[in-house]
Amino acid sequence: DQGKRFASSLLFDKAFVNGQWVSAKSGKTFEVTNPATGELLGTVPDMDGSDTRSAIETAHKAFQTWRDVPAKERCTVLRRWSDLCTQNKPELARLLTSEMGKPLKEAEGEVNYGISFIEWFGEEARRAYGDVIPSPTSSKRMLVLRQAIGVCGMITPWNFPNAMITRKACAAIAAGCTVVLKPAEDTPYSALALCELAKQAGLPEGVLNVVTASRANAPSVGKELCENPIVKKISFTGSTNTGKTLLRQSADTVKKASMELGGNAPFIVFDSADVNAAVQGAMASKFRCSGQTCVCANRILVQEGIYDRFVKRLAEVMNEELKVGDGLEPGTTQGPLINKAAVDKVDGLVQDAVKSGAKVVTGGKRHTKGSNFYHPTLLTDVTPKMRCSTEEIFGPVAAIMKFKTEEEALAIANATQFGLAGYFYSGNIGQIWRVSEKLEYGLVGANEGLISATEAPFGGVKESGLGREGGKYGLEEYMEIKYVCMGGI
Ligand code: ADP
Repeated sequence: DQGKRFASSLLFDKAFVNGQWVSAKSGKTFEVTNPATGELLGTVPDMDGSDTRSAIETAHKAFQTWRDVPAKERCTVLRRWSDLCTQNKPELARLLTSEMGKPLKEAEGEVNYGISFIEWFGEEARRAYGDVIPSPTSSKRMLVLRQAIGVCGMITPWNFPNAMITRKACAAIAAGCTVVLKPAEDTPYSALALCELAKQAGLPEGVLNVVTASRANAPSVGKELCENPIVKKISFTGSTNTGKTLLRQSADTVKKASMELGGNAPFIVFDSADVNAAVQGAMASKFRCSGQTCVCANRILVQEGIYDRFVKRLAEVMNEELKVGDGLEPGTTQGPLINKAAVDKVDGLVQDAVKSGAKVVTGGKRHTKGSNFYHPTLLTDVTPKMRCSTEEIFGPVAAIMKFKTEEEALAIANATQFGLAGYFYSGNIGQIWRVSEKLEYGLVGANEGLISATEAPFGGVKESGLGREGGKYGLEEYMEIKYVCMGGI
């Protein structure tokens, strides 16, 4: 690992346990590269189940005091942490783009979003009210307390290396829990930079622990987090298959679980929609992060009366607005995909669709910028049976199919085991209500393509997950309800 190193004041090449920078017990490390250029950014410890067990024990010790720190003080630490992140925003964004690839402007947006969770949950901590329930018996009083769950195990993905950490960890920390978190192997540096700033903010040792691991060791770390009885809650964002594995592994210790899994978002454009607004919404929801978010539009369903106008306008706007390149270069709107395997998968879905009758309006091939780049692609004449309709594309491919009636669109939209985000554009108020209610999704965008917000609940139904993150609901996920009945009154 003697290659050219990426220089950053916030680049830390050790894991973070008990407030210290530590190596794996085995001494092993793994490499982290820039997906746009293939350059080596550095190495981090390749930890395993045994390292994870030590981190869990540390978090357990820290929990004994952190749980009793008054909410106002927890809030103050989180406030200092968010201020430090704000001061370091440009460097956090540059680091994020370098390890993950998204354009710098999007990385800045993500860092802002990440900071907003630190701030929000610090504020929410002070409002974790209990209840006093009117008692049916005059000799008893009935109280409800909300208490921190305990040590929380977390596993996060590479597509939001900063905000997925704060959305989970800050909810837990604000509630009085302590955390052992494994970031994605592609993007550990954003997580480690957050640890350094947490340390500077005065977050006590052991409250936030980050164990880094290669893909090969991820199952061993995950198994320990799921099976160790000290850990009381597991929170995961990633693929549905991995989520199911973690749920199975958590069964024997009856852990609470929050799961943010895959999606297959429908994006429906009805005849009554404003074409330009629908195209703008589709651009935002499809091409953010080069199509690599779990809420990206996956199946674009367009009613026959507006179909030709929508396709024409979307193609024009794609050609005008999308610029493929290194995320650090000014003007880039489409960075690389995370790795070569992702490009192969996206190309496989496009080739399959074309073989089955889909038409390529633009793109449809790998990009000459490098092995991790793919041309923004517009496919028409897509059908519900094609793999690009049944699988999560996770790339810059807009796949369009035609429908005739509202009933047909809803039937297609809901015919999936996933239920994360769904979008539709309509100018008809009755239809807006009906479709909002009938879409079997945890998040619905009605005439809006960007719906995530710190203040709102995020999460899916069906096989897209369990629980909600963000908003007032996000804090509840890390608290137990305790009922106290006082007698003898
Ligand atoms: P993706 O396909 O986007 O990489 P994954 O679900 O495979 O989605 O990865 C999301 C996170 O889950 C990453 O941090 C990854 O290291 C981790 N992960 C993958 N497989 C396992 C596993 N068997 N046990 C625990 N964590 C895992």
